Amino acid sequence: MRRMTSQTPSTAGPNRARPQVRPTPEGWKQPMGPDGRPQLQFAQKPRVSQPPVHLADLTLAERQEKLKGMGLQGFRAKQLSVHYFQHFTTDPAKMTDLPAAQREELAEAMFPTLLTEVKRLVTDNGDTIKFLWRLFDGSLVESVLMRYPGRVTLCVSSQCGCGMNCPFCATGQNGLTRNMSAAEILDQIVQANRVIAEGGLKGSGRDGVHDAERVTNIVFMGMGEPLANYKRVMSAVHRMIDEAPEGLGMSARGITVSTVGLVPAINKLADEDIPITFALSLHAPDDELRDDLIPVNSRWKADEAIDAAYNYYRKTGRRVSIEYALIKDMNDHPWRAALLAKKLNARGRGWVHVNPIPLNPTPGSIWTSSEPEVMQEFLDILNDAGVPTTLRDTRGKEIDGACGQLAAAE
Ligand code: SAH
Repeated sequence: MRRMTSQTPSTAGPNRARPQVRPTPEGWKQPMGPDGRPQLQFAQKPRVSQPPVHLADLTLAERQEKLKGMGLQGFRAKQLSVHYFQHFTTDPAKMTDLPAAQREELAEAMFPTLLTEVKRLVTDNGDTIKFLWRLFDGSLVESVLMRYPGRVTLCVSSQCGCGMNCPFCATGQNGLTRNMSAAEILDQIVQANRVIAEGGLKGSGRDGVHDAERVTNIVFMGMGEPLANYKRVMSAVHRMIDEAPEGLGMSARGITVSTVGLVPAINKLADEDIPITFALSLHAPDDELRDDLIPVNSRWKADEAIDAAYNYYRKTGRRVSIEYALIKDMNDHPWRAALLAKKLNARGRGWVHVNPIPLNPTPGSIWTSSEPEVMQEFLDILNDAGVPTTLRDTRGKEIDGACGQLAAAE
């Protein structure tokens, strides 16, 4: 496809004809379903083994019950919760407030090993770290930790693999293995907090001072489709916002759930009455293209997904985000920016923010990111139409930024 575009000027203006590259996967074969369309996996296969239950899977009351059921003292649940959610430790040797004779037994009961670090890639300036974790069954997942002035963001995974089969995404290429447990999702944050506490995340905050000493923001933009793992993701979100020591005591506003557009689940999320931030991966305003770019568009069309995003705003009052990976000559045409603006403005003003990101090409793919001037034009058209639009930063390009790439390479 790049061959084709090389025959046309890369700085094509709005009036010049631009090629339309079709999204066919390159370098891998997209599994097809019986209907001849890219296969979708909404649920994990039956009887996939689940990780052992961990303290973070349970509410404080459930932790107490579990300990009592094991013949241990229920009130120890609170002490163990402080160690995990406030000191980020699962090491019995450090739990000096517990009787020495019981420490091992208590820690073993509540803290089975969930995430084992396989690889840690750090950017040259140290403000971004990408972790590759091995789970109890050998599954590999990633998280990315990023320091910004005034905040620290962690991009978390919610599934081992993904069943949504988007042709431009590295994670989808091996399908869905299984859902991650709530505690597996949370342990990514606790482990990141421990790394920060040990001084492992560099970079400068405001005035060069590290002004956030733990993860303040979560984006569900790692591996997996969070709304296809709804129950565990919501249980993890509750634990994130529960006051310590029941949970991490984070602000719900700092948590972003991103989805390909599972409409019924978006509506359910809107009814939860939790002020988390919602993001829709739209990537194309027209079904013609979105049918191929986001296979789940065969179930819920672009307009239905946009309606669900608007409904989320109406119900929660929270401005929603539209994600849009800009792919050269595929979805970056000026008319698409205009159509997107028209569709968003038709629902109202001030309810949405568009957040394009240059495509991060996956290995073997010949798709490529849009040219800078094409991206600028795309942004200008939306902003001029009154839709606030900002280019998302591409942190960690040098460390295999595209999510799922590390796991795929192992
Ligand atoms: N399944 C969810 C969340 C995980 S992906 C979702 O689709 O929203 C997080 C974001 O990264 C999504 O917007 C996804 O489309 C985007 N993404 C995936 N692969 C990408 C790539 N190679 N370059 C840029 N963005 C990509």
